Amino acid sequence: MQLTPIIDVHTHVETIEKNDCIKQCHTLIEDLDLAEIDYALVMSDLDEGHHPKKDNELLVEILEKFPRLFPIGCFDYDYVDESIDILEQLANQKQIAAIKFFTGYQHFLPTDEKIRPLLAYAEKNNVPVMFHTGAPAQCVVSRLKFCMNPYEIDEVCYRYPELKVSAAHFNAPHFLSLAPVLENKENLHADLSGLFEGDANPKENVYISVLNSNLKEAFCYLENIDNIMFGSDRPYLKPIEAITWIKDFFQTYKMLEGDLPDIFRNNAIRFYNLDIDNNSIKVKGGKD
Ligand SMILES: [Zn+2]
Repeated sequence: MQLTPIIDVHTHVETIEKNDCIKQCHTLIEDLDLAEIDYALVMSDLDEGHHPKKDNELLVEILEKFPRLFPIGCFDYDYVDESIDILEQLANQKQIAAIKFFTGYQHFLPTDEKIRPLLAYAEKNNVPVMFHTGAPAQCVVSRLKFCMNPYEIDEVCYRYPELKVSAAHFNAPHFLSLAPVLENKENLHADLSGLFEGDANPKENVYISVLNSNLKEAFCYLENIDNIMFGSDRPYLKPIEAITWIKDFFQTYKMLEGDLPDIFRNNAIRFYNLDIDNNSIKVKGGKD
């Protein structure tokens, strides 16, 4: 079974200041190398002084120098119009792989009417969207009612049947509550990022065995797992820990082991319209 290349679909760098951001991208590459991960999709956080034009343009500009990394654009609810302008522009130029929504952190629902124009645009133009869901291990204080109701995600998938939607963090820790939605809505995917803190070794981290059995239960409801993608949520969870955990998980549950190449890259390539070749990652049709 060919496990490589591997794509981490969920990583972050800060976009407060250019030189610092470049430094963080170098560290990200080191983290990926340590974990033998080939490529990563990267997004900013809503850092101090955040602004959608500044943050997204800075990330796009910097990642042009890092061919193994490709940006995901971030919507900023504090600047709705500016967000829509810049994200549509970057998506039209194929400079971002998707649009991320920080629902719980910025206190809006996936069905919020202010984001509807952008969802309609994304559906029409085959731009995937990612919603923060659940309370992943390193989740800072947020308002969980905005990001923990899987039927909100279900509603978006229903209203926009051609829109590709990803639930980041698989609605952690309520994996089972998202499973029927994943099973019911063909346009929904989920990533496995940020599901635990610290050490991937179950002997050192008692939570791992609980995580594994809960996730396995959720997987049992899925007909297949061609809508599940690997992600770390770096820097909140180190890629080396994320990859160690996921390999152990799939080895423990032998029935799923054959699905690893799909989870490591094939599902992501299809979902995010990616083109990977010769140590470089971009969206199909984007410039080299
Ligand atoms: Zn994240």
